[in-house]
Amino acid sequence: MKKDLMNILCCPKCKGKLGLDVTKEENDEVIEGALTCNACDITYPIQDSIPNLLPQTK
Ligand SMILES: [Zn+2]
Repeated sequence: MKKDLMNILCCPKCKGKLGLDVTKEENDEVIEGALTCNACDITYPIQDSIPNLLPQTK
């Protein structure tokens, strides 16, 4: 996913802002990493450049 996408992405649960942890990146693209919502204490993985924002059940 493009890093710019962070501007429009929000937590699907609380609609809050997500934090970005980059494990692997190319140019402005995040290949692997994680999106974290501090409010919900949930981490959404980014794999093969695709963020998985499916609601996670705890
Ligand atoms: Zn949240």
